[in-house]
Amino acid sequence: MGKNNHVADKLEQYRGKRDPGRTPEPVPPEGVLPHGDDDTFVIQEHHARSLHWDLRLERGGVLVSWAIPKGIPPDPATNHLAVHTEDHPIEYATFEGEIPKGEYGGGTMTIWDRGTYETEKWSDREVMMVLHGSRVSGRHVLFRTHGKNWMIHRMDPPAGSWRPPPQVSPMLPVTRARLPRARDEFAYEFAWNGLRALATVEGGRLTLRSDKGKDITDAHRWLRPMAEPFGSRALVLDGEVVSMGGTRIYICHDLLYDDGEVLLDEPWSQRRGRLEALSLNGARWQTTPSWQGEGQGRDVRQAARDQGLPGVLAKRLDAPYEPGEESAAWMYVPSGS
Ligand code: MN
Repeated sequence: MGKNNHVADKLEQYRGKRDPGRTPEPVPPEGVLPHGDDDTFVIQEHHARSLHWDLRLERGGVLVSWAIPKGIPPDPATNHLAVHTEDHPIEYATFEGEIPKGEYGGGTMTIWDRGTYETEKWSDREVMMVLHGSRVSGRHVLFRTHGKNWMIHRMDPPAGSWRPPPQVSPMLPVTRARLPRARDEFAYEFAWNGLRALATVEGGRLTLRSDKGKDITDAHRWLRPMAEPFGSRALVLDGEVVSMGGTRIYICHDLLYDDGEVLLDEPWSQRRGRLEALSLNGARWQTTPSWQGEGQGRDVRQAARDQGLPGVLAKRLDAPYEPGEESAAWMYVPSGS
């Protein structure tokens, strides 16, 4: 066996899983592998049957690869599973595209980040490196736990001002018989009287918690597709599950966290702007409509009455989010009859 054959064998498994006539992925011919500096990394976001991020480190002429279902952990407090996968050819570092359904890894692949890395340690069970990318930088370690299963741990503190998603109880309105006097200082929404629930989106996965903090995700699997399009962007939404014509829908009314940023102290109007920018309007999740300005409160209340909705919520435009509090910044006004 010559040296070239030995090196080419590194991609045997890769080639065996792919038909070059059916996938747009690079399938280089057998032969001498390119010789690099073992310092390039790429992370690809792969919307396959199950969303994951593929971390690939250039090493010995191939990309040594791990599939990470929840992505690179932003915080040393939480390690993520990283499943070791077959070595990929160096050419794969620039690959983005659509792998046809039915083919191995079928789905959309995009480059999430790429850059250089320094190896601090490399063995069969532990890889310690410093990543220098545009989205992720810092010291990380991959360590093997069992078979193909490894974990990835961030060794550096979280980047910049990153904060973890808050776990809070919902803010509650006070009940009033009349609409507020200072009408232009409020926005008006329908009250739905649904099941209040906070939705945390992380790594394209959803966790739904009741107002008491109970995990109710399993009872609401229908809402899981809301999370995947956000990819690695982490969010905490306030909202409620409402039944419409027998179909359950999640109505979003507030945004409490966005990708490392806690928004609780932001005024409602800022949070509302950021919530709207998320364009949450799927078949089974919607952003609650909201109106501002003189006279709107009365119209929204009338519309609520006409549609048989229980009432109106008046929300102070400048109010922060007060978790677990019954706050006069939010007023529930029954629609009356
Ligand atoms: Mn993959």
